[in-house]
Amino acid sequence: MIRVETRLLPNSSSKDIMSSITTQAANAAAKEFAKTVEAKVKTFKCEKHPSTGSTIRIIADKKEIIKIDKNSFCCKEFADSIQINVKR
Ligand SMILES: [Zn+2]
Repeated sequence: MIRVETRLLPNSSSKDIMSSITTQAANAAAKEFAKTVEAKVKTFKCEKHPSTGSTIRIIADKKEIIKIDKNSFCCKEFADSIQINVKR
């Protein structure tokens, strides 16, 4: 099974309005994207390691808005078999 984790940016306490807008936008996009990914991958299972859990991390990022981390997969083949694209 695949778990989807979302990592959000901390809300900036600075008065930099652009920075806090970027933070909010990235967090909202990451949350929304995580839902899409969750719905897409919930039926996926690695044929070689069906009982091993894998994790996709959706990371909110100020520069790239969303980053995807598939490092916590049971094997590279399975990670590669899951194609997730961030549409911009
Ligand atoms: Zn595997």
